[in-house]
Amino acid sequence: MLSSIVAAGTAADQGAEPPGGARPSAAEPAAAGAEFRVETERFADVRILRYRVPGFEALDARTKVLLYYLYEAALCGREITYDQKYRYNLAIKRTLEQIVRHYPGDRDTADFRALTLYLKRLWFANGIHHHYGHDKFAPGFAPSALAAFVRGTPAPFPLRDGQTLGELIDELAHVMFEANVDAKLVSKSADRDVLTSSAVNFYSGLTQPEVEAFYAKLAVPGDRTPVALGINSRLVKVDGAAVEQVQKVGGRYTQAIEHIVGWLEKAVTVAENAAQRAALEELIRFYRTGSLEDWDSYNIAWLRDTESHVDVVNGFIEVYNDPLGMRGTFQSVVSFRDPEATRRIGTIAGAAQWFEDHMPFFGRHKKANVTGISGKVITVVIESGDVSPSTPIGINLPNSDWIRREHGSKSVTLGNVVAAYNAVRGGVDREFSYGAAEVDRNERYGELATSLHVDLHEVIGHGSGQIEPGVGPLHETMKTYGSTLEEARADLVALYFAVDPKLVELGLQPSVEVGYTAYDQFIRNALLQQLNRIEPGKDLEEDHMRNRQLIAAWAYEHGRGDNVIERRVRDGKTFFVINDYAKLRALFGRLLRELQRIKSTGDYAAIRELVERYAVKVDPALNAEVRARYAALDVPAYGGFIGPRLVPVRDGDEIVDVRIEHPEDFAAQMLEYADRYAFLPTWN
Ligand SMILES: [Zn+2]
Repeated sequence: MLSSIVAAGTAADQGAEPPGGARPSAAEPAAAGAEFRVETERFADVRILRYRVPGFEALDARTKVLLYYLYEAALCGREITYDQKYRYNLAIKRTLEQIVRHYPGDRDTADFRALTLYLKRLWFANGIHHHYGHDKFAPGFAPSALAAFVRGTPAPFPLRDGQTLGELIDELAHVMFEANVDAKLVSKSADRDVLTSSAVNFYSGLTQPEVEAFYAKLAVPGDRTPVALGINSRLVKVDGAAVEQVQKVGGRYTQAIEHIVGWLEKAVTVAENAAQRAALEELIRFYRTGSLEDWDSYNIAWLRDTESHVDVVNGFIEVYNDPLGMRGTFQSVVSFRDPEATRRIGTIAGAAQWFEDHMPFFGRHKKANVTGISGKVITVVIESGDVSPSTPIGINLPNSDWIRREHGSKSVTLGNVVAAYNAVRGGVDREFSYGAAEVDRNERYGELATSLHVDLHEVIGHGSGQIEPGVGPLHETMKTYGSTLEEARADLVALYFAVDPKLVELGLQPSVEVGYTAYDQFIRNALLQQLNRIEPGKDLEEDHMRNRQLIAAWAYEHGRGDNVIERRVRDGKTFFVINDYAKLRALFGRLLRELQRIKSTGDYAAIRELVERYAVKVDPALNAEVRARYAALDVPAYGGFIGPRLVPVRDGDEIVDVRIEHPEDFAAQMLEYADRYAFLPTWN
């Protein structure tokens, strides 16, 4: 699971940067001499940022070479993500890239600029649906302009076998310009078949009941160690029967997976230690066999690799893009540890049992023995696939409940990414804070509050609690509400303990006021700031957004009698002011216990009622007000990153060192990747 920026998706509306050692601005000498430009450009609703990689130069050559191999393995898989998200993404991407590379005509026209903008948005989202809101992009040019650009570009286009250029144009124009065709990437609408109303490419020709029936037959009742059914395949209907197309060497996406495996095999030769080597070998085995048991073995081996400096996540991992929460989208994160910042997380992880014992859960839903939770702050070297260019700031894996239960989980905070966000944050917190006291406190404690929230969410939150015997895994019991429930649970754990004196006692925060700041940030974000991301008339769809509104709207309503959270209006601007932090904590505890009960007992009706009642609908007037306030501040709603470039330095055939570069041009990087890592056929 991953956490996006906790206090809303951009650093601008984030609380502040975390404490600890991950201070690239301070830690990194101004080696390059020139100022490091974090923000490089803005388009549509995004801004393009860059992160530094402090400490890279100081690594020994062997570690750098290891990072380089893993960097290549990461990028080799990036086009899988495009194809997984929508079956036309690669065809549209490659068609538009050919135009941008080779069109010989006038580029200084409204149509060409609109086409370029559309392509940048496509690159940013790994497809033609918004990376966060999931709605299909509306091209700012006409089908006739697309046709004219294609016909006017003397270059090969990605035709199907036997297809004419005119037929390709018609086929792509249909899916790009017809607003009703595959309008939503992932639909969670409760009153429609979520598969037939979602554009994702995980299923073909099947309805939700057919898929559920297929997996009901495969699930073993009472299995204490169930495999992650569907995690690495696409399910299609062939001659009336459902068939899995498994992603592996020799299977679906083999053209890219063979390259991933090739680089991983090189990485094995320079692994830091036996545990890391074992994990890499298990990952290679999984990519070769496609076996779900091998996937579990890999995850367990990866968990055992706790001492290494370098870490890699590479595979079909997060299931947010599947409306049924089963299929993983390709992603990779390559990183090395930031030892100083990791100490803070270590303190939290060390107290994991204390936190579990003090959860507001019913006794039977607490774990008697919390095992193996480890957390660290990492310095990202490259991200690829579904976590790039838009990135989480925290990751907690693996996602398998039983592996977490028996082997623990690893939790990471992406230190240099968080730092980059914070370098560009604006005055959004000020805009949405009611009084000077709230603003002052946020300026003093905001960064610490944000960091501790992420740490507690990842290290303690996701790992906490246990389900009752005989209750199935989350995606079975909670169906489309599983991710919202799980994210809400983790956020509530962080909130519940934020004001606990234990955090002061552990030396994690100087005063309980840090927790008050966390509460201010959370309520402000959930009820106001995050609405900036909702287009007028739309519902909340994204799991993290739903989870935040669920918590805040529920607490607002249940605290109304005591005026715990008060809605105030000043100069036509709406604010939510917390009047009683202790009572708010009690409310958070009540909701947390209820959500844990729902998860532990598999009470689907209860989660559906809660989510549909509190977490889906948006007040249109408030939505419009928030968007207007953001517009006045001129801060894009989303941020994403240009990745560094690793360049091997060779002596003959041998790589003796690796140089790191920080490209500045987003489009140039996307075209460079398109040239170097286009392994998949256009039509898969
Ligand atoms: Zn989470």
